[in-house]
Amino acid sequence: MIHRIMCAFCKGTGKDPFDLLSPISHCLVCTGTGMVQVEDPVIICVYCTGTGKNPLGSRVPCIVCGGKGRNHREGDKKCSQCKGTGKSGDSLPCTGCKGTGKTK
Ligand SMILES: [Zn+2]
Ligand SMILES: [Zn+2]
Ligand SMILES: [Zn+2]
Repeated sequence: MIHRIMCAFCKGTGKDPFDLLSPISHCLVCTGTGMVQVEDPVIICVYCTGTGKNPLGSRVPCIVCGGKGRNHREGDKKCSQCKGTGKSGDSLPCTGCKGTGKTK
């Protein structure tokens, strides 16, 4: 089952939220549609807290969810390596759960 959800990176506007190329350029995550697809079951991306933005500060989409703000949940166990935060010690995505906070 595929869910259609609002693109978190552009908040559904379909426009590049940072005007990186030009004010009329399309959002690179949803290619301008304002919607993205994530396979069920869907969880909020803990790495970017659902914003779709890279928490490391650069104006690029979150590297874990690809800017969607949501992830496909691979497992339902809290990752013991990052304790469910999705981050490793240096704030890069946790290698145990690939930044999703969940493992099988
Ligand atoms: Zn978008
Ligand atoms: Zn994310
Ligand atoms: Zn983890």
